[in-house]
Amino acid sequence: MRIMVSACLLGENCKYSGGNNRSEKVLAFIRGHEVFPVCPEVMGGLPTPRTPAEIVQDTVINKEGVNVDQAYRLGAKKALEIAMREKIDMAIMQPRSPSCGSKEIYDGTFSGRRIPGMGVTAALLKENGFCVVDADEL
Ligand code: SF4
Repeated sequence: MRIMVSACLLGENCKYSGGNNRSEKVLAFIRGHEVFPVCPEVMGGLPTPRTPAEIVQDTVINKEGVNVDQAYRLGAKKALEIAMREKIDMAIMQPRSPSCGSKEIYDGTFSGRRIPGMGVTAALLKENGFCVVDADEL
């Protein structure tokens, strides 16, 4: 299979905090497959580390109140371009991220409360017919 994966799940230090979300479960699952790592937030031009962001009424806003929607949408568009070009079979994405979350996201109040929803990249991939799987669901 051809699998797109959130780069932080592979151990890349691209998370907002400067760390990663390395997942042994994901690494075991993708073994022997063709892997296409993406970090939409970095691809959208954001620095690492960066201020965390959440989706507020369909717009990505960071914790300082800055509208960072454009960068998040650009990263999503670039991830979609890779998915199309590489004809991926599925994407395994980091849970709850405002970019990569595919089942749940934070509710936009920066209080840690979760709601059903998708990050902007996961949503764009799904809208375009790609199979998007939350890493917790593997
Ligand atoms: S944008 Fe996605 S790949 Fe990048 S750090 Fe956030 S969850 Fe990981």
